[in-house]
Amino acid sequence: MQIKNYIRDIQDFPKEGILFKDITPLLNDPIAREESLKILLDSLKGQKIDKVVGAESRGFFFGMLLADKLNAGFVPVRKPKKLPFKTISASYDLEYGTDSLEMHIDAIKKGDRVLIHDDVLATGGTAKALCDLVNELGGEIVQCNFLMELSFLNGREKINENPIFAAITY
Ligand code: 5GP
Repeated sequence: MQIKNYIRDIQDFPKEGILFKDITPLLNDPIAREESLKILLDSLKGQKIDKVVGAESRGFFFGMLLADKLNAGFVPVRKPKKLPFKTISASYDLEYGTDSLEMHIDAIKKGDRVLIHDDVLATGGTAKALCDLVNELGGEIVQCNFLMELSFLNGREKINENPIFAAITY
């Protein structure tokens, strides 16, 4: 079972010149999904996790599965103005301009051991914002993990003070 075979390349999505890695075939196959989850879990080597932080929206899929297996809480990080309670916010750079992500202010307690998860590490802006949010609330980042790392975009440089793991690297 090669989970890489369940990632589909989509040329020119969401805009021209971008080769998008589509994870929906992997989500659609229970065996590939199970194998991906196992690889992500094995990388933690049994370390205790209190909270899994997942980024909207594709970080929610495996983020929730990981939280369930780890017997940890799940914390959704969302685009601005989506969360109903009091939030903290972290901004990050886009190709043109900036965007931001929000997390509930009570989602992480000081000293919580946190696993950060997203589907893809590309330029690292999203992952850096996730780390900033966790650090602001005093969480201890145990690992940032991803289904895929697009290593040619050097995203890991933005978060390299943390352990990083990707199930697939391009
Ligand atoms: P970054 O902030 O590292 O540049 O981009 C990572 C974010 O963009 C992730 O939340 C991810 O969902 C999304 N993303 C960027 N490129 C891709 C891609 O090729 N495939 C998928 N599935 N998501 C991507």
